[in-house]
Amino acid sequence: MEVFILVVSLVFTMNGDKGKLFSVDDLTGKSTPLFYKKRYELQDEVKASFILMEKEALKSGVQLEIFSDYRSYEHQKRIWTRKYNRFLKDGMTPQDAISKIIEYSTIPGTSRHHWGTDVDVIDGNMERPKGDVLNEIHFEGKGVYSKLKKWMDERASEFGFCLVYTDDESRKGFKYEPWHYTYEPISREMLKAYLKIDIRTFLKKDRLTGSEYFTDAFMNQYVKNNILDINPDVKN
Ligand SMILES: [Zn+2]
Repeated sequence: MEVFILVVSLVFTMNGDKGKLFSVDDLTGKSTPLFYKKRYELQDEVKASFILMEKEALKSGVQLEIFSDYRSYEHQKRIWTRKYNRFLKDGMTPQDAISKIIEYSTIPGTSRHHWGTDVDVIDGNMERPKGDVLNEIHFEGKGVYSKLKKWMDERASEFGFCLVYTDDESRKGFKYEPWHYTYEPISREMLKAYLKIDIRTFLKKDRLTGSEYFTDAFMNQYVKNNILDINPDVKN
């Protein structure tokens, strides 16, 4: 254990002044580094720590399985555009469609999954539930992923992993996601760097569908609620 704590603190120190080293492409899912093209589409440090955690969880009969890790800008853009067009076809106004999408999905270029530090996890030992695999009910009570959730509650932080979208009623932005963990020693620094990007200009330049409705007021609100109203343990 002592050895591990040393490793984590080294990573933290090394990244302590690295904020300026993350490029805009790194932070918005526009770069696809070679090391993402492996089984774990995560940054090397994140992957190494995840593998340690995976081994430890196995001892308790929990098979950590990554449901989602790195996601590119283009991937998130496909999700966004599909939902946007469907909601408009259903008769929603663009503003309502956008509000509906951002209950669970991010605007492309703003997803933490772009960073190679965040994972959605399920328990590979359990039979996958029908319908929405990532549904809160599976992680509670007698849900199929309740054992995983309990293990993660007790142990994940030892490996640097924390929930981002916690079950806190006063929290705004994205709803509770008991499956979404971040490797905070690195993502904390990436968030700091991310906040320096002029994201509205970035999205308009990219002509994202619906971005003409991203007013200053909307973007300020989105950053405040969806990007920053997260678990206090994972931000500065
Ligand atoms: Zn996620």
